Amino acid sequence: MELKAILAVIETLKNEDLRNNIVTGITLLVVAIILIILIPLYILLNPLENIKNFLSSDEQVIVEDIQSDYKSIDYGMGNITINSKFGFPLENVNAVVITAEYGNYDPWNTGTQTKHTGIDLSGIHRDNVLAVEKGEVVFAGVQKGYGNCIELKHNIDGTEIYTFYAHLSSIGVEEGQLVEQGYIIGKEGGDPYTDQNAGNSTGHHLHFEVRTSKDYGNDINPKEFIF
Ligand SMILES: [Zn+2]
Repeated sequence: MELKAILAVIETLKNEDLRNNIVTGITLLVVAIILIILIPLYILLNPLENIKNFLSSDEQVIVEDIQSDYKSIDYGMGNITINSKFGFPLENVNAVVITAEYGNYDPWNTGTQTKHTGIDLSGIHRDNVLAVEKGEVVFAGVQKGYGNCIELKHNIDGTEIYTFYAHLSSIGVEEGQLVEQGYIIGKEGGDPYTDQNAGNSTGHHLHFEVRTSKDYGNDINPKEFIF
């Protein structure tokens, strides 16, 4: 019985037109499925200015809400959506994933909470590290645990804010230097085997902090500023 059914299928497939129709049908179905997935992704991930023309004003509000809810999310594919007047601290942002969030956590399940005073961003090894905003270099050198690191002082609408970049493989600025937003201040690093002055780091990444005043302990959540 089964053999008969198989033979019948083979007999049917001998018809070339039918075969072509099946291939065309499957292709169209695959294309349709891809479009159904990609169109909403495109709408949700693109800045509203780029897609306004395609949307009614009601739809614009919905997309804006979804984008603002998810603007700080790591999509798990290396994509981080940035929605801020600040720049991003690494040049190749599309390669970056967040490997450790800011805040209290218990990394080795010891029952003791440790505060992670910044956010860890991992992308391309020795990627250019950029000033997120124009400012003055107030520290450039080596600190215990942080290895090579840089601290910048910014003036944001009259408020002093500091940003701190650690585990660098090289430092490209000097204390007292003024830098513009996007200026290359150093190179990402922290690989304990290949980078000098890696600090406390098991793999290459940028430890990035935002502080309300200079020095350790004045940290705030970087996500509120950068993403
Ligand atoms: Zn860190």
